[in-house]
Amino acid sequence: MTAPLHDLMMDYPLTLTHFFERGEKLWAKKTIATRIPGHPPFRYTYADFAERTKRLAGVLDRFGLGRGDRVATFAWNSHRHLELYWAAPMTGRVLHTLNIRLAAPDLIYIINHAADSVIFADASVWPILAGIRDKIPTVKKIVIMRDTPDAVVPDGLDDYDTLLAAARPVSGWPKLDETTAAGMCYTSGTTGNPKGVVYTHRAMFLHCLAQSMADQFGISENDVILHIVPMFHANSWCVPFTGTMVGATHVFAGPNPQPRDIAEIIQRERVTFTGAVPTVWIAIKDLCEKEGFDISSLRTIAIGGSAAPRHLQESFEKQFGVVMSHAWGMTEMTPLGTVGRLKSYMKAWDYDRQLDVRSRVGYPSVGVDARIVDDEGRELPWDGVAMGELQVRGPWVLKSYYDNPASADRFTADGWFRTGDVATIDAEGYVQITDRTKDLIKSGGEWISSVDVENMIMAHPKVLEAAVIAVPHPKWVERPLACVVPKPGVTLEPAEIVEFLRPQLAKWALPDEVAVIEAVPKTSVGKFDKKVLRDRFKDWRPKE
Ligand code: AMP
Repeated sequence: MTAPLHDLMMDYPLTLTHFFERGEKLWAKKTIATRIPGHPPFRYTYADFAERTKRLAGVLDRFGLGRGDRVATFAWNSHRHLELYWAAPMTGRVLHTLNIRLAAPDLIYIINHAADSVIFADASVWPILAGIRDKIPTVKKIVIMRDTPDAVVPDGLDDYDTLLAAARPVSGWPKLDETTAAGMCYTSGTTGNPKGVVYTHRAMFLHCLAQSMADQFGISENDVILHIVPMFHANSWCVPFTGTMVGATHVFAGPNPQPRDIAEIIQRERVTFTGAVPTVWIAIKDLCEKEGFDISSLRTIAIGGSAAPRHLQESFEKQFGVVMSHAWGMTEMTPLGTVGRLKSYMKAWDYDRQLDVRSRVGYPSVGVDARIVDDEGRELPWDGVAMGELQVRGPWVLKSYYDNPASADRFTADGWFRTGDVATIDAEGYVQITDRTKDLIKSGGEWISSVDVENMIMAHPKVLEAAVIAVPHPKWVERPLACVVPKPGVTLEPAEIVEFLRPQLAKWALPDEVAVIEAVPKTSVGKFDKKVLRDRFKDWRPKE
């Protein structure tokens, strides 16, 4: 008999607390900054950040919040938001980042579904919440963060900085199991109600390690990171966690950043790494061409969220010497799925061939298994031609949505997540997203459900049918075009539809234009055939 060999390593939980405690010792002198409109940036050190995060934990304790209680944020990117990112999960509570751009009905649904206990809101976006305050009964406390110097805290609400100043810092962190919920985020990427994704400590821990790898985003202590991706969207691609783990310098874009603010920050702070959706980079390119901002400090721009045009990558490289890394991911995947990087031997290929590779979304990250399958669930070859639904599995891919049994069909019987994206994978493992199974529209990084908008239009008394499709847009990548069929004998003006929708939709979801058509084309089983419509309007261009 030999002695037991099995399980002789420590059972050390993979929690965010490890990153924080280690960072507190190692990165004390490193800095964190937030843009303040019209003023010099706010700056402090990691040591200050750690001290305030412990005070914030003291505030959460004083509020009487229990393990698992949801701590919601409703805020722009800032150092305060970063403090919440850490204090909530490390005390065993769940960080719930609310999207400040959602329309009121979605916000009400999400806050009630998650049963948030407290909301930390930036003063500049508080008026949005004020309007729904009587419809979110689980929320017992609202704390205001003064994100602009002239911000005031409404009567009866708490001021974040005052609470922190008066709080006692916690002396340590509870021991948590690695499968404890750390954060949650709702996705409105499909029809129906938004769905909640709950991230465990373990998922985030492993995701941070993978994301920092040299062959992924290579995020290191040397980096100066500008956080543009909203911290309410998919953990800001998890980069605030990864950046803190490695001790990078953080720069937060602050309230409502515009392309000029972003270009100025990159130039002034000598930013080395940042990421955002293609729409942002289209605007920055235009600005840099016109005004000559110096963005040469950037070593990599992560671009994703929707397809990054090939010409955009080429322009950034040729004009500004900045390499883009095209990535694909989902809220459901913490969010990293694939990262676009050339393999060493591809660097000898001619430039056009390299660009062909880089216009795809890269190969699957370590930790992510990917496959494409046909309609019968049969796995398809990696030949760059066969096209099928992209399915994934891995330690940071969700196993189930939060309290949403109706979504069980998003998972296969053999344990894969059905992404809803249609893709090819080539022999080198590079994934190309070709379509989405649902006819969603992604405008400026935000989802618009065509079906939701159609249903609203079809509630208009003069409308017979309506189909909403995505049409290409130079700035927003996609915009919704509403194709509307009036009831027989009725005259319908496009403006009537826009005015009818205006009170029901968030501004960015409102179709800019309406085409009055004679019939919506149908498939053999009587469904709207949007492929035909898309083809018909493929040369349609938005009015300036
Ligand atoms: P979200 O959960 O809001 O981040 O949206 C995820 C979806 O965005 C994916 O399922 C894709 O449809 C789309 N997406 C993300 N990254 C890319 C990309 N690089 N190219 C094309 N589509 C993308």
